[in-house]
Amino acid sequence: MASLYAALEHYYGYSSFLPFQEEIIRDILEKKDVLAVLATGGGKSLCYQLPALVTGGLAVVVSPLISLMKDQVDSLTTQGVPAATLNSSLPYDAMVRTLADLEAGRLRLLYVSPEKVVQPRFLATLRESGVTLIAVDEAHCISEWGHQFRPEYRQLSVLKEQFPEVPMIALTATAIPEVRQDIIRQLSLADPSVYVGSFNRENLRYTVAGKKDTYPQLIDYLRSNPNRSGIVYFSSKKRTEEIAERLRDDGVRALPYHADLPDAYRHRVQEQFIRDEIDVVCATNAFGMGIDKPDVRFVIHYDMPKSLEAYAQETGRAGRDGEASDCILFYSPGDRWKNRAVLERDSLDRPDLYPLAVQKLNDMIAFCETTRCRREHLLRYFGETFTGVPCGACDACLQPEEFIDGQEIAEKIVNCVAGLPGRFGVTHIGAVLTGSKRSKVLAEGHQNFPAYNSGSEYTRKEWSSFIRQFIANGYLDQSSGKYPVVTLNERSRAVLSGDESVRLARPEGRGARDTRDGPD
Ligand code: ADP
Ligand code: ZN
Repeated sequence: MASLYAALEHYYGYSSFLPFQEEIIRDILEKKDVLAVLATGGGKSLCYQLPALVTGGLAVVVSPLISLMKDQVDSLTTQGVPAATLNSSLPYDAMVRTLADLEAGRLRLLYVSPEKVVQPRFLATLRESGVTLIAVDEAHCISEWGHQFRPEYRQLSVLKEQFPEVPMIALTATAIPEVRQDIIRQLSLADPSVYVGSFNRENLRYTVAGKKDTYPQLIDYLRSNPNRSGIVYFSSKKRTEEIAERLRDDGVRALPYHADLPDAYRHRVQEQFIRDEIDVVCATNAFGMGIDKPDVRFVIHYDMPKSLEAYAQETGRAGRDGEASDCILFYSPGDRWKNRAVLERDSLDRPDLYPLAVQKLNDMIAFCETTRCRREHLLRYFGETFTGVPCGACDACLQPEEFIDGQEIAEKIVNCVAGLPGRFGVTHIGAVLTGSKRSKVLAEGHQNFPAYNSGSEYTRKEWSSFIRQFIANGYLDQSSGKYPVVTLNERSRAVLSGDESVRLARPEGRGARDTRDGPD
């Protein structure tokens, strides 16, 4: 279809499509429903914009953020596309004008909030205006499995009831299968074509660094990468301000961004960042959605995010222009407990969501603790098989930790877990293995079990690290309750029978001989 390419060239100045764009657009033109799961930067907006442009119809786009709508409409308007937005923040006269344009069939794209789109009066107006496509952007917001659940998205199920004949496209960058299913079900997509793009971002380099002397590590990085733009994410609003100030004292052009700062201030930070008037934004996760800055050269997580979805989305903001960019995450095993406490507080009003949140946190931790390729790990989480290990662009592949053969260690751990009556956590198992005289060990009578002191060649901390590596690599399971306990699984048994070979990172300060010649 020549006119598709002509329109692509005419409105956007591109001569070819990104992966799946053309297939998606053709489906929409054939009035099929579509679920598009494409990574951030994958070019999702064009998938619903172009059909409206080539057919001269009206696409209604449901979008969760007013700022996001405004940016899109501004950029469309400058491209000469009749586009507008309707939401609660609009002045009365602008709303009247937009409604008039809508009814007169002058609009190709109309961005609306989920609250607005389900109002009966608005639905009636839409019917009059001959809507030809409904797009639900950031569709994962509909799912409690996602990391940005928004109750108002649940109302969107009326759209299919009211417009069964209008094709609907749902778009998201969140790829976990449960979210996909939820979107299809809740929006009642009719036998949709599902497109799942690759989530591999080849130009991103992933690193997990120890959360110790974090600020010096940060400032070192910034100094060795001058004049580059990036985002540093924090879990605490207060810390964004503190670290931004400290960075400014150290000569870095940095500003904070979080939900409690005044709108005008936040807007200015965003503008200055996009115009390269500042280099670093110290932000909470409130920053980023809808910020289309192609040359973000680094995304640093000062604190660990709550899920791998959040991590993928936030790191996905780096390197949209395809140039090499860094994703650095500072992690300490202690973050587990800090995050647990936060989850507990957050889920007070929705305790049913707590186990899922803990599971997501554990998945995040496993990513931090794995000794294998981070890219492979991340892609596997999103259901994608990555066959390019070593990837050449993650810390594990670039500087493989020195490995030791973990067979003997694995046997000791598995025997200890299997031999203790009851279920225990990482620390306790380490304590038993090292012959600790902690009161809990003695109270349980564990000094009388064969596993007691069977691992004295390593310290308790080293055992904890081994056990965590096993959990991260799937050789042991860990429950997600308040006091997580370690249990055996199929793979732990495979290890015992020698069917699986086990690699472990060599503990710091231990030479190759230590493990071989250590006392039994
Ligand atoms: P997403 O919403 O999936 O994160 P966007 O729609 O914001 O992605 O697109 C990301 C970037 O890719 C934008 O800068 C956009 O202009 C660009 N883009 C989209 N389609 C194409 C294309 N066919 N060729 C080149 N660049 C494209
Ligand atoms: Zn790798």
